[in-house]
Amino acid sequence: MAQTRPDAPATTVVAAGRPRRKNGAPLNEPLTPASTYVAGGAEYGRFGNPTWTAFEDIIGDLEGGRALAYSSGMAATAAVLALVPSDGIVVAPRHAYHGTLSLLAEREKAGRVQVRLVDIENTTEVLKASRDAHLVWLESPTNPALEVADIKAIARQTNSTGSALVVDNTFATPLRQKPLNLGADFVVHSASKIIAGHSDVLLGVAITNDRRAYRALVKRRDRNGNVPGVFEAWLATRGIRTLAVRLDRAEENAKALVERLTAHRSVSNVRYPGFGTIVSFELRRGSEAAQQMTESSELIVHATSLGGVESSWERRRRWSSENATIPDSLVRLSVGIENIEDIWSDIKQSINKAVSTT
Ligand SMILES: *Cc1c(COP(=O)(O)O)cnc(C)c1O
Repeated sequence: MAQTRPDAPATTVVAAGRPRRKNGAPLNEPLTPASTYVAGGAEYGRFGNPTWTAFEDIIGDLEGGRALAYSSGMAATAAVLALVPSDGIVVAPRHAYHGTLSLLAEREKAGRVQVRLVDIENTTEVLKASRDAHLVWLESPTNPALEVADIKAIARQTNSTGSALVVDNTFATPLRQKPLNLGADFVVHSASKIIAGHSDVLLGVAITNDRRAYRALVKRRDRNGNVPGVFEAWLATRGIRTLAVRLDRAEENAKALVERLTAHRSVSNVRYPGFGTIVSFELRRGSEAAQQMTESSELIVHATSLGGVESSWERRRRWSSENATIPDSLVRLSVGIENIEDIWSDIKQSINKAVSTT
């Protein structure tokens, strides 16, 4: 349900997706486990659930479109990529979430799409590759290289050529970047990350302001059955209520850490797009030291994934699936909402341990 008042995002995350106010009604949308309904309404559990709808209304309002929730970020990604006609041309970032790149590579190998990988910071290159594309996939900032695309300039061209423009907005969140307002046709999120925010949910979402595209996605979700779990949607709704304050606090911490990391003599190549909660950096001593550092932390969790209230980090190339052009010693730090001095002293002691043992 689109809201009628255009509230500030910090208000929308709190106020949207609530049940109608009436005496005795709960403030929050209840958890509704249902595989079927009395005939004449939603009918069957795969076609809709009020607990999903509450979450979809909030994220849809935030992004300025209509949202559909999926069982994971990858399910949302696959659902949008499935709109490309067979043998269609897809332009994608050379550095993107490795799951997205692997999916595209598999589809290309199976002869279903043609993929052109581009440097998304090089707008001229993106525009040139996109002229005859069916779909342009952007992830901005990228995971984990933190490159940023000029979405507006790219959208100007895709809107005139008729290519679909998709933005994976997981790192920015709609509180920092609204791709549909910049001219994109679809937004996807891994809601498992900053949106749900507590490292306890797998959930994805796709948002569009194109009525026909929305209906096409609904139809496919009904058929493919890549629907979210009801408890996951409920947890994500609970999590998104604090998105504005979590993001403000984690971002403030991230900015302070960027300054301190940049000034640290053992650290090199600090990457930060200027907003958000993710910082990537390297250790001058190399990948073995970087690995040792991530294994030496006491407060910061050594773990993959990102966007939780707790700080976490990992050396990305410990995954053989990570892009080989990502530096071997690059560490992706997901900054949490803990006290900044506690995070910083843990980083310092982890670096010291790594530097003294490698
Ligand atoms: C994690 C992630 C995904 C995949 O989401 P899942 O919820 O893990 O399926 C997609 N894009 C980005 C940028 C991510 O960080």
